[in-house]
Amino acid sequence: MTTTSTTSAGTSGGLRVSVHVAPYKRVANPAPGWDPARPATWPATTSTLVAGEREAVLVDGLVTDAESRELADWVLASSKRLTRVYVTHGHGDHFLGLAGLLAASPGADLVCLPQVAPEAAGQLGAEGMAVWNGLFPGQLPARLAQPAPLTGPLEVEGRPLHVLDVGRSDTSPTTVVHVPDADVVLSGDVAYDGIHPWLVGSDAAGRHEWLAALDAVERLGARRVVAGHRDPGAPDDDAARVLDETRQYLVDYEQALAASDSADELVARVDARHGSRGNPYTLFLSATSAFAAGAPAPQGEPSGAAGASGR
Ligand SMILES: [Zn+2]
Repeated sequence: MTTTSTTSAGTSGGLRVSVHVAPYKRVANPAPGWDPARPATWPATTSTLVAGEREAVLVDGLVTDAESRELADWVLASSKRLTRVYVTHGHGDHFLGLAGLLAASPGADLVCLPQVAPEAAGQLGAEGMAVWNGLFPGQLPARLAQPAPLTGPLEVEGRPLHVLDVGRSDTSPTTVVHVPDADVVLSGDVAYDGIHPWLVGSDAAGRHEWLAALDAVERLGARRVVAGHRDPGAPDDDAARVLDETRQYLVDYEQALAASDSADELVARVDARHGSRGNPYTLFLSATSAFAAGAPAPQGEPSGAAGASGR
């Protein structure tokens, strides 16, 4: 597989924002019920370099050794001094592979908001490692990275990168980075661009919170939103498009779930409107979890007004 990258500059200021997209990658050991004739994959994932004249901050990294080496080469080729890597949320696919880049970047630290640190630390525990090694056996770097709580402001050469905790999206808490100088929000997993959002284990209240997180990003008023998971063929980073499409997916998923009696039905209903999105394996996992024993009742708005009878 090849890695694609795009570069674009902010229009108004001195910071330049470049996006690296790691492509979809095969996962091992697909969950029972997945059609073995179809490849099960992990979503394409972005890492964004925010660069000034001499220095840069990277927002989010990757997980496997091979893709993390490619990312490190890409960052080092910028010839900027990397001062920090900021991790938007605690999912290991956005940071476990960063040790090599950090070793090659003297003085750079790996940080997240203090409230994100516990989930991130958990990814390196026995349970987290069992998940990541199960997905990518023999593909993780020998040394894994773990973010430390951020102290002080996030900035590049005195220009601010505003970090905002927007609460729950595909995990909780999740944060976004607003770079006013480049008129862009780096949304982590709060927005998904052309890829099925991760709704494994979600419930109606959580999806409602996710909608509020999208509203919070919209209120920042940036022209562009770079999603943490972006299809390599996405046409642009237009904020209105990316936020509206993520919002619509969540609304449609809610309706499809309420109307479905099985995971297969849910997949079919969501696919009818969103089948062009990448990583169908994510939708399969989300739907399977929604109908697993002990899962929250699929019906029921956060208000409790609808579907109180359960499924
Ligand atoms: Zn993610």
